Amino acid sequence: MAILNHHYLKLKAGYLFPEIARRVKAFADAHPGADIIRLGIGDVTEPLPLACRQAMIKAVEEMGSRDTFKGYGPEQGYAWLREKIAQQDFQSRGCDIGAEEIFVSDGSKCDTGNILDIFGKDNVIAVTDPVYPVYVDTNVMAGHTGEANEGGEYSGLVYLPLTAENNFTAPIPSQKVDLIYLCFPNNPTGATATKEHLQAWVDYARARGSIIFFDAAYEAFITDPSLPHSIYEIDGARDCAIEFRSFSKNAGFTGTRCAFTVVPRTLKAQTPDGAAAELWPLWNRRQSTKFNGVSYVVQRGAEAVYSPEGQAQVKDLIQFYLENARLIRDELAALGWAVYGGVNAPYVWVKTPQNLSSWDFFDLLLDKAKVVGTPGSGFGAAGEGYFRISAFNSREKVQEAMARLTQVFGA
Ligand SMILES: *Cc1c(COP(=O)(O)O)cnc(C)c1O
Repeated sequence: MAILNHHYLKLKAGYLFPEIARRVKAFADAHPGADIIRLGIGDVTEPLPLACRQAMIKAVEEMGSRDTFKGYGPEQGYAWLREKIAQQDFQSRGCDIGAEEIFVSDGSKCDTGNILDIFGKDNVIAVTDPVYPVYVDTNVMAGHTGEANEGGEYSGLVYLPLTAENNFTAPIPSQKVDLIYLCFPNNPTGATATKEHLQAWVDYARARGSIIFFDAAYEAFITDPSLPHSIYEIDGARDCAIEFRSFSKNAGFTGTRCAFTVVPRTLKAQTPDGAAAELWPLWNRRQSTKFNGVSYVVQRGAEAVYSPEGQAQVKDLIQFYLENARLIRDELAALGWAVYGGVNAPYVWVKTPQNLSSWDFFDLLLDKAKVVGTPGSGFGAAGEGYFRISAFNSREKVQEAMARLTQVFGA
């Protein structure tokens, strides 16, 4: 009999979102016609920017004529897109990143998992708690962990708690870790990292030869001009960091699919004989072998994000979601609840009132207000007692949800 990858059997099978769906369905079945508002999702709701749509329509037309038809493109992405990314996302902010260091892909979710292909089995891996579950599950699948305990923590991983006490920024570990996943602005807490905080991480990583996986999927939501958008704004980051970016949350590409990963040429890791070797050729080889590029049409759509119209339209989209987040923050703060995030991120992280557990608060909110959020404990043990509310929804739904909360929980 063929042998399966037994590491998959360790996975706490899709616990969070299926459980939410189960409870919402049970409620809906018991209350037919109930108008349930979903503020639990991590998906955008507003349509694609016009500039992107127009660019994609034009690209589809090009595919219809022999002289402009495109077959396979470069696995790394078209040069015209990589150059715009390098220039407008990085060089314009003073980051020393070149087009050849940008690898265009069909998503950051897959890139954050696939990156493990070019690293060895024996690295000590750190994640934050709460965490974007993809970082953990892909390490479990790759056999980098032991079994999970009751709280869902896997042996072999180092968990760095994000708490109100540390302002939801990742504490630098006292032990040596080789690979570190950081996500700022953070999903789920909505917290941001200052230049000083990231400098401390870069200094830690360079001193120990560690590598930081920096997920900047939400950088477009940064409104505070003092905050870094890229880890390469930090001195020394070229020698210790890989950055993941996506068009999903800035330009609403969650269903269109385009993202990119930055692997600096100067980044090195250790070979079995103890030498240091560049990682760029490995990622280049990995992508050329296992990936055949993003569709021409979609890359033209992504390119339009960098046009003046595209920039203005993306800015409007972000403003729209941030205004939703502001409404959520204000209304919940007025109830006397402790609220975090939601200023430079589309997520508001709430301390549950009366010290309710995350799931008890989920049930209460659903039962009394017919509003769905995401229990913080679903993102990790340190998320217990917290709750994530997403700003990805229409203005009407957000306003209606907040009016209900005020009615139910207001004095
Ligand atoms: C939404 C999200 C992404 C983007 O994933 P895509 O596959 O590019 O859509 C990446 N990281 C985090 C933490 C996210 O929440």
